[in-house]
Amino acid sequence: MAVRSAMHQAGAAALTELLRFAAPAADQRTIPCSCGRQAHYHPQRSKPILTALGKVEVSRPYYLCPDCHSGQFPADIELDIENTEYSPGVRRMLAMVGQEAPFEHGRRQMKLLADLEVTTKAVERTAEAIGADIAAGEQQEIQRAVQLDLPIVVGEPVPILYVLMDGTGVPVVRKETEGRRGKNEGEPAHTREVKLGCVFTQTKWDVKGYPIRDLDSTTYTGAIETAEEFGKRIYLEAWKRGWSRAAKKVVMGDGSEWIWNQAQLHFPDATQIVDLYHGSQHLWESARKLHPNDEVSQNRWIMIHQAWLENGKIETLVSSLRSIETSHAELGMKIRTEADYFEKNAERMRYPEFRRQHLFVGTGVIEAGCKTMIGARCKRSGMFWTVRGANAILALRCCQFNGRFEDYWEARRA
Ligand SMILES: [Zn+2]
Repeated sequence: MAVRSAMHQAGAAALTELLRFAAPAADQRTIPCSCGRQAHYHPQRSKPILTALGKVEVSRPYYLCPDCHSGQFPADIELDIENTEYSPGVRRMLAMVGQEAPFEHGRRQMKLLADLEVTTKAVERTAEAIGADIAAGEQQEIQRAVQLDLPIVVGEPVPILYVLMDGTGVPVVRKETEGRRGKNEGEPAHTREVKLGCVFTQTKWDVKGYPIRDLDSTTYTGAIETAEEFGKRIYLEAWKRGWSRAAKKVVMGDGSEWIWNQAQLHFPDATQIVDLYHGSQHLWESARKLHPNDEVSQNRWIMIHQAWLENGKIETLVSSLRSIETSHAELGMKIRTEADYFEKNAERMRYPEFRRQHLFVGTGVIEAGCKTMIGARCKRSGMFWTVRGANAILALRCCQFNGRFEDYWEARRA
């Protein structure tokens, strides 16, 4: 470690020398200004930059426009250090640790792993700035996708492509929930919903006919945004993953209406499947309401109804629910709502048919995604996010998970 520190110091000194830009030749002391006139050379100015080797000093020409008074450092653009005190290499590290764990944890990792002293705030600001930049790039791509201006993604044909959608709450600062109703009547909301989507492929099934997800084929995308905005986002992700050349297309989700609206809009030719376990949960809720504190009756009721659900006999299930007579008004309404839920989703619950095609019928992947992509980073105790901050970190986290983080830096260099 001592030798490493010494090497860093020596390296930083050498780098400072390399970053001493020469003054321009006498006949090259003006450059164009954005206002259309000419900016003039002023003496060299230097600023400290934290690099992978530690603090260095960069000394470069400054140009000032006498007309509009805006100044510029062309060298800063060339080095990708415009308006920042951190080199691209250090920013890459800060973004990486910032998406992984709480910012304070990232600060300590920077010290331990890279021997660099930074503040917690620097980890936060840099990670969020990079995340916001990635998100802005995605929005540009989304605009192109909406205008059907995306390049065709060439590649192997995809046997089965899945698109899954889900929502999960993230705790936010008070100003982000103003005027929004909470889950319980009369209580203010203190979370905002992140909409998360994933795309994965399937080529094979096992000897029993159960589907096998292609290894490492899952990519995620998500944000706190409206269903309409999210619909475009997940459409882009599916497009990138080869939606247009998939032989079989599947959209899966729970019963949330927004999911199916977006599925209809962006993936009209896909097979739609409602998560079996989600349907099963609905049955359990009904069982508990119908037979409170009577486990034996609950189990008997579930056995019959669960079998109908798993066998795709949704019409039988619905008419059974509708035939329940009760004088309890609230219970009656609850059961009618459940019957409506199954009726509305009947075609999405033909499980024997889906199994025959070796398709998945559960949405475990997206639920795991909600935990690892969002919960593990954004739902730790004492965390309260701004929408802007959470969206930036989520963009960064998805980019990293999807294996596109280095592409981002490659594109910046270009
Ligand atoms: Zn100017």
